[in-house]
Amino acid sequence: MPTYEFRCRSCGSTFEVRRPMSASSDPAPCPGGHEDTVKLLTMAGLGGGSAAPAPSGGGGCCGGGCCG
Ligand SMILES: [Zn+2]
Repeated sequence: MPTYEFRCRSCGSTFEVRRPMSASSDPAPCPGGHEDTVKLLTMAGLGGGSAAPAPSGGGGCCGGGCCG
């Protein structure tokens, strides 16, 4: 299930919500109870696991892009 990141415009906090893609555009109240939130663009949860950390033997970490 994708994770969506929201930011509260009332208190400025950011928080993540896990929900199905069909509900991605639904409003999400912040943990503080405010409803004036905006959804941030995030790649978390998209792509089916491309963000998984790659094991490294050491020394060649940046060559695999995991330092970025
Ligand atoms: Zn808030």
